[in-house]
Amino acid sequence: MNHHTTVLRLGHRHDRDARITTHIGLVARAWGVDQLIISGDHDTAVLKTIESVNSRFGGTISAKWEHSPMGWLRKFVNGELQKQKEKGIAIHLTMYGLPVDEKLATISKKQPTVFVVGGPKVPSDIWEICQYHISIGSQPHSEVAALAIALDRWGARPDDVDTSNALMKIHPSENGKQVSEI
Ligand code: SAM
Repeated sequence: MNHHTTVLRLGHRHDRDARITTHIGLVARAWGVDQLIISGDHDTAVLKTIESVNSRFGGTISAKWEHSPMGWLRKFVNGELQKQKEKGIAIHLTMYGLPVDEKLATISKKQPTVFVVGGPKVPSDIWEICQYHISIGSQPHSEVAALAIALDRWGARPDDVDTSNALMKIHPSENGKQVSEI
């Protein structure tokens, strides 16, 4: 992806969501997303796991916690967070939105973009702030699956992460694990 891309995870719960929020971060990293923002409970363990995977397998995705995600989103969309006040595109992933195959291809890729994934309760002003509301099928399933499919349809690929700073490299194999240290 050559445009700056963020994943915003809403409503993280320290006790229940550690694995699933980590998996959101791992998908974001692998598909070449630049920034992960987590809101809800301030959970440094998730942020540390993403940093640790970056340091072993490479990658530069930054991960941070945000106490005011809806304020952050408004500023992002209005261009208050970008250099030269470039307005952002916010894509809310929700089972109530328009089908991914109809809508995603019509969205400009020339501006900074955030994919927003929800938690147990998504604030209703998300519908006003985000310009796009995209469903990966009109059934409830998983934020991790929704994010991976949306990024892939967006044109990102799971090897898009820049691994030039990696300490370990996986070599695809049919005969067991093949990993070299760099
Ligand atoms: N109750 C929440 C709500 O009001 O939207 C949904 C909870 S769901 C387990 C958590 C998140 O997974 C959603 O906010 C959405 O980002 C994502 N998700 C689940 N199913 C989806 C689908 N079919 N399409 C797109 N995103 C989906």
